[in-house]
Amino acid sequence: MPSSERTALITGAAMGIGYAVARRFLAAGYSVAMFDIDNSALARSCEELAPLGSVLPLHGDVAREADAQGAVERTLAWRGRLDVLVNNAGIDLYGIAPEFSLSDWERQIGVNLTGAFLLSKHAIPALRATRGAIVNISSIHALVSYPGCAAYDAAKAGLLALTRALAVDHGPEGIRVNAICPGWVDTPMTRKWLDATDPATLAQVERQHPLGRIGRPEDIAEAVYFLASEEASFITGAFLVVDGGLTAAGK
Ligand code: NAD
Repeated sequence: MPSSERTALITGAAMGIGYAVARRFLAAGYSVAMFDIDNSALARSCEELAPLGSVLPLHGDVAREADAQGAVERTLAWRGRLDVLVNNAGIDLYGIAPEFSLSDWERQIGVNLTGAFLLSKHAIPALRATRGAIVNISSIHALVSYPGCAAYDAAKAGLLALTRALAVDHGPEGIRVNAICPGWVDTPMTRKWLDATDPATLAQVERQHPLGRIGRPEDIAEAVYFLASEEASFITGAFLVVDGGLTAAGK
C-alpha cells in the first residue's frame, strides 16, 4: 500500500507537536485530517499545509463524543479509509490537589485521557479494516512527577495504561497501539513558560538535558511517524521516551 493512499487523523493538529506530526505525514504522502478545538488556528494551519498534500480541517472538542465520532465519520467520508490515529490534543492545568477544582480535574482528564479513548473507540472499527495504528502522545509526566502537576500526570499515566490495554485487545486484529513520552518541547504550550523565564534559567534547563537542548516538535513527529510505520510492525503496547535524555539523567 503506497502511503499516497493512506489517511491519518491527528488531534490537536493546529499547532505545536500535532502540527509537526501533520506535516510529517503529509511529507510521506498521507492525506491528513486535522482535528482541533481552535478553529481559527486550524484554518490557518490547514492553509499553510495544503500545498504539501490533502488536508481536511475538523473542528471540535476531543472530550465530546459527538465531535470525536463526527471526526472519524468525516474522515471516512473524505477518504474511505483510516490508517493512523494520533491522539495528541492536550491541555496542561496546574495546581496542587487542595487548590484544584473538580471541574479542572474533569477537564484535564476529559481532554488528555477521555479524548484519546473516544477517538480510539470510534476509529478502531475503521483501523481493523486497514490493520492500522494508534499513537498516543503521553509525556515524561507519566513516569516522573513535577510539583503542581497531579491532574496532568494522572491523565498522562492513564494514557499509557490505555495504550497497553488497547494494544492487548486489538493486537489480534492487526492494530498496533503505542505511545510517545515527550520531555520539554518548544511549542505554544511551553512557550508561555519559556517566554516568562529568564535566559539563565532556560540555559539551566537545557543543561539538565544530556543532549544540551529542549525538544523541537519535529523530534516528536519523527518518533510518531516511526511508530506508525511498517518499520515498527512488531512494536505494540510500548512507549518511547523522547526527551533528550532528561529522565535518564534523573532530572
Ligand atoms: P499546544 O498547546 O502547543 O497544542 C495543543 C493543540 O491541541 C492546540 O492546537 C489546541 O488547540 C489543541 N487542543 C487542546 N484541547 C483540545 C480539545 N479539547 N480538542 C481538540 N483539540 C484540542 O501543545 P503541545 O505542546 O503541542 O502538546 C501536544 C501534546 O503533547 C499534548 O498532549 C501535550 O500534553 C503533550 N506533551 C507536550 C510536551 C511539551 O513540552 N510541549 C511535553 C510532553 C507532552
